[in-house]
Amino acid sequence: MKLRVLGAYGSEGVSQRPSSFLINGKTLIDAGCTSSALTVSEQLHIEHALISHTHLDHVAGLAFLTETMALSGHAPSFLTISSIDSVVKGLRSCFFSGVVWPDFTKIPTAKQPVVKFRDLEENAEQQVGDLMVRPVSVSHTVPAAGFIVHDGSNGLVYSGDTGPTHALWKAARNVGQIDAVILECSYPNRFGWVAKTSKHMTPELVERELDKLPSDVTVFIFHIKPQFYEETADELNRINSRQVVIVEQDKTYDLD
Ligand SMILES: [Zn+2]
Ligand SMILES: [Zn+2]
Repeated sequence: MKLRVLGAYGSEGVSQRPSSFLINGKTLIDAGCTSSALTVSEQLHIEHALISHTHLDHVAGLAFLTETMALSGHAPSFLTISSIDSVVKGLRSCFFSGVVWPDFTKIPTAKQPVVKFRDLEENAEQQVGDLMVRPVSVSHTVPAAGFIVHDGSNGLVYSGDTGPTHALWKAARNVGQIDAVILECSYPNRFGWVAKTSKHMTPELVERELDKLPSDVTVFIFHIKPQFYEETADELNRINSRQVVIVEQDKTYDLD
């Protein structure tokens, strides 16, 4: 399983893109950015997007990706956007609403649209493309899911945006093929009160979370806010665990 980091951050800065990962060239996990990280040809290879929640730093890239697909002339080129029901509802009503972006569930035609939505059942494993995916609700300010994803041989757990949580790690312990956890950390420790209110992690909270994670996995940290990057990275690097690695944007990790 190849995991390409399109966007590693919890917001945008110069050369710092919002959160987005691409598995095996075909399936996005979150889409904070797409077109700023991929060639047109790479964008047209994408078939699925797993979306953790509706915040812009996780979905903004859906706008430009769907437009690229709609105008590609490579019909039928479409994107299936999958998540738990409440997230899909939010994307339909607020994002592809015809107000902030066109309703690509009807473009170019209602019969052959660029965007198809799919509701995923919570806490159940289901096939998305050539991957098996189990969405599990996590603790954030809007409905949000983490995902347990595997291909039968290799797998990962993606936290999405969350404060301390239990159900995701509990579900992950029952899956045998987990090689990596992709865990958010947004703020340095002195912003613990912001993290608590906005339901995010700090390095201190990450350290406490480690005991709950599947053992012997690499913990890739993403979603650091760009303006606090150095401070947060320093604190993460002081965590006494060889497991914890801050993801590098544009790098492809081979989880085989
Ligand atoms: Zn976020
Ligand atoms: Zn969020």
